[in-house]
Amino acid sequence: MGLKESMAEKKEIKTREKYMKMALKEAEKAAKANEVPIGCVIVHNGKVIAKDHNRRNKDKSVLSHAEILCIGEACKKIKDWRLEECTMYVTLEPCQMCAGAIVQARVPEVVIGTMNPKAGCAGSVINILQMPQFTHQVDVTTGVLEEECSALISKFFADLRDEKRQFREEAEAEINGGVSKEKDTEDQE
Ligand SMILES: [Zn+2]
Repeated sequence: MGLKESMAEKKEIKTREKYMKMALKEAEKAAKANEVPIGCVIVHNGKVIAKDHNRRNKDKSVLSHAEILCIGEACKKIKDWRLEECTMYVTLEPCQMCAGAIVQARVPEVVIGTMNPKAGCAGSVINILQMPQFTHQVDVTTGVLEEECSALISKFFADLRDEKRQFREEAEAEINGGVSKEKDTEDQE
């Protein structure tokens, strides 16, 4: 590989990481709001035209995935349902709904932080983004800032388990405490 090519490649890696960092910031906002931390950014000709995060609980809507919200926003911004000159950066491999919307919007390129082996539809469970039977296929790059993206998700679910455990322990302590209190009053009587 020539020097020029490797420099161009380095620049591309830098660009990808820059936008993935933005998507990560969105994912962190979701975590703070007790939503599964997934963030997304859409870039059009070098300009960020949409960024958002998962808001499923807040909106009480299954449609409020980061990618769907960003696609909606991007379509509004460029006044077209086709996102033909856009690149999507998303911290977690898209689900079947979002992958479907990405294909429908003809997004040419998707950059993914970490894969989702149990539910991802960009190669894990199925690869909706690259079905030869459909008229549109998406260029997919995976593993951009993978550690950060994956750590955020793992931490969120670990904290959730800790919270549940703590809640259970507190509830048990309350029940036990309540029982002994009752005994105390009986003793006094
Ligand atoms: Zn989704």
